Amino acid sequence: MQDYTAIREEVAKLCAAFPGPYWQAKDKRREYPSEFVAALGEAGYLAALIPEEYGGAGLPLSAAAAILEEIQRQGCNGGAVHAQMYVMGTVLRHGSEEQKARYLPRVATGELRLQAFGVTEPTSGTDTLSLKTTARREGDHYIVNGQKLWTSRAEHSDLMILLARTTPREEVASRTEGLSVFLVDMKEALAAGTLSIRPIDTMMNHATTEVFFDNMRIPAANLIGEEGKGFRYILSGMNAERLLIAAECIGDAKWFIEKASGYAKERVLFGRPIGQNQGVQFPIARAYAQMRAAELLVHDGIAKYEAGENAGAEANMAKMLAAEASWAAGEACIQTHGGFGFAAEYDIERKFRETRLYQVAPISTNMILSYVAEHVLGMPRSY
Ligand SMILES: Cc1cc2nc3c(=O)[nH]c(=O)nc-3n(C[C@H](O)[C@H](O)[C@H](O)COP(=O)(O)OP(=O)(O)OC[C@H]3O[C@@H](n4cnc5c(N)ncnc54)[C@H](O)[C@@H]3O)c2cc1C
Repeated sequence: MQDYTAIREEVAKLCAAFPGPYWQAKDKRREYPSEFVAALGEAGYLAALIPEEYGGAGLPLSAAAAILEEIQRQGCNGGAVHAQMYVMGTVLRHGSEEQKARYLPRVATGELRLQAFGVTEPTSGTDTLSLKTTARREGDHYIVNGQKLWTSRAEHSDLMILLARTTPREEVASRTEGLSVFLVDMKEALAAGTLSIRPIDTMMNHATTEVFFDNMRIPAANLIGEEGKGFRYILSGMNAERLLIAAECIGDAKWFIEKASGYAKERVLFGRPIGQNQGVQFPIARAYAQMRAAELLVHDGIAKYEAGENAGAEANMAKMLAAEASWAAGEACIQTHGGFGFAAEYDIERKFRETRLYQVAPISTNMILSYVAEHVLGMPRSY
């Protein structure tokens, strides 16, 4: 896979303007890193995957992965922006020419932010097909009612990709039918009072929310693809999402490993560096081996994805292994630093909290194991 050295160096340079104290202050106040997001947007990174004809850079998934990995490796947090990279595919692959021409150029310039992804609901969670939010056709509009949970960045986004039920579950032949995807103009709905957003306070600074739809009107022109086929469209974007999140975890793991091994070389106790003790070395070395193995699978998955092959198995396994590697690296890093690992000024405890998410969201480990068991190994379906 191409290394994108020049892009990585530029991203690293940009990130240097947002050092630890910037993130610590944001984390403490639970503030969205608007300045960082604006800088990424101005430099064109958020438009990496938008084709050149719509004003983007037209880069492949591997480049987006390199950008997100580098952001994490530099100690920053791509959670504030990564959704635009992975929801973009839904619009690109399934949106109409008219929708792409209307929205993508403005997303590319940063005038519109496509950062919100409304799938999870309070009572369905992982069981997406049981979601309850409805979109009922009325003339040339759909009327949406329901609630989404964990809709991250909703307060900092202009557009949302929304999955809602357009045909009741009991009226469709297959359980995967009857759901549709919409591109929602959130600012319009907020102004109309039909969309409301409530922030959720979480253990890390992730700007996540719950959103409520009260007779929200969406023009029928904002339906993406065919009505009733939305679940398929969301699924088709999941491999890219898994691979990009895995790349972020690789970046986190590298950050933790560099911090831990650096500190182990410098911290002197009992007259020698603590890193001279194998009890200190081995957890860091093990995390490094885990990270490298996961990284190879991320590259393998991306290569398959870019070749137009089904990367489902690799994307899922890469996401699981990379999230576990970043957690192992975080654990080794905090242990190596002893008490200092808990001090906010070292950034370790912040990154430790941030990286834990990726074993749960956007998909939890059990669901990945279930995919591997059933789709790769052919064992019976469990649900
Ligand atoms: C900070 C944060 C940000 C998020 N951002 C978004 C977002 O922007 N948009 C969005 O749509 N969603 C978002 N999510 C939701 C996220 O995708 C879900 O939390 C995740 O998919 C798990 O769903 P759940 O929380 O409902 O857990 P549940 O589905 O309730 O599952 C709970 C636990 O049970 C396990 N489990 C469930 N069923 C089975 C089974 N059959 N076999 C074995 N184990 C099982 C799960 O693996 C999990 O560990 C976010 C979540 C968080 C925490």
